[in-house]
Amino acid sequence: MADPTPAERQEKQPASDEVTEVAPGVYRAQLPIALPGLGHVNCYLLEDERGFTAVDPGMPDPDSFAALSHRLAQLGATPERIHTVLVTHSHPDHFGGAGRLRILAGADVVAHERFRSIFDDTDDDLVQLLDERAPKVDEEGFDPVEFAGYLLGDGDIPDIPGRVTPWGGAIPFPGREEILFMRSWDELTKRGFLTPQPSRRVANSEVIRLARREWVVIHTPGHTGDHICLLDPAGGTLLSGDHVLPTITPHISGLHANDTLAEFFDALDTVAAIEGVTTVLPAHGHPFSDLQGRAAAIRQHHEERLELLVSIATQIGEADVEAFSHHLFQPRSWGAMAESETYAHLEHLRLNGRARRHRDGMKLRYVVDA
Ligand SMILES: [Zn+2]
Ligand SMILES: [Zn+2]
Repeated sequence: MADPTPAERQEKQPASDEVTEVAPGVYRAQLPIALPGLGHVNCYLLEDERGFTAVDPGMPDPDSFAALSHRLAQLGATPERIHTVLVTHSHPDHFGGAGRLRILAGADVVAHERFRSIFDDTDDDLVQLLDERAPKVDEEGFDPVEFAGYLLGDGDIPDIPGRVTPWGGAIPFPGREEILFMRSWDELTKRGFLTPQPSRRVANSEVIRLARREWVVIHTPGHTGDHICLLDPAGGTLLSGDHVLPTITPHISGLHANDTLAEFFDALDTVAAIEGVTTVLPAHGHPFSDLQGRAAAIRQHHEERLELLVSIATQIGEADVEAFSHHLFQPRSWGAMAESETYAHLEHLRLNGRARRHRDGMKLRYVVDA
């Protein structure tokens, strides 16, 4: 079957206000988001004797929260009934509502042990760092602690000299006016710069009880380093987050591991090897059943991208990551995310002996073998 055209992709559809039971005691509530290629995020509401667990409670904005309240009302509940929030990974359309539910309902917040919390709103270490306000220049790339210092502080905003990624690309850094504007707590929260502090951090293979049954945590890095899926082996249900989506492939960041793509392939193999899954519940798009087929198609997409890079190299020869990204992606996608994913693919080729690199000034340049 041909890939759907962008207009047909499920993940892009606007949030429906219908709540559906997709597995026993598991309800799919779609919350509105407006991100490139995404029209909604699925918040799964898992019911038990104590109330509900919300898996990925949407963006940190009022619209998302109002939609969550509206969906819960259809189940005869209110946000106060949410006793646990489970966050599949550290992206704001997934963790955004967690902080508010923690405050409002006293909800436990569960995430992977590697869950990124450098912008954590309760992090004493961060507060101390900000007090010290000692900017550290990171030669190789973005320094989130320093970034937080500028955003949260009230002192001077220094000129930030050539901020670069590991491959020598520019980091889009907010200007002085924008930093001044973003210094309000609300603005930082709304934009997802503040991450919730998990009250429980889980590791691979750990078992957690939700919706009156046991779920196994599966660490699935690739899209982010802290991504988890949850498996109900008895019911044959997999909460797949952004790891396996029905009609798009998740963005692969080149920043959190030496060979992010290899990690992602391993994590795809891990879920594809699970037997007996009949219901896959993704964070975007509709539930589906063919886990193995979808995992294979996503892997195939990246294998094709690797071969495309090899053929691009025969045309353009030695080049930097930005140049490769301009051949690999459509112009509308050019920028830091496209470069990060291109870098992940080039590094995968290099670490498998199919490419070499050297540094020329700030830029990494790659030679890919034909
Ligand atoms: Zn994501
Ligand atoms: Zn997502």
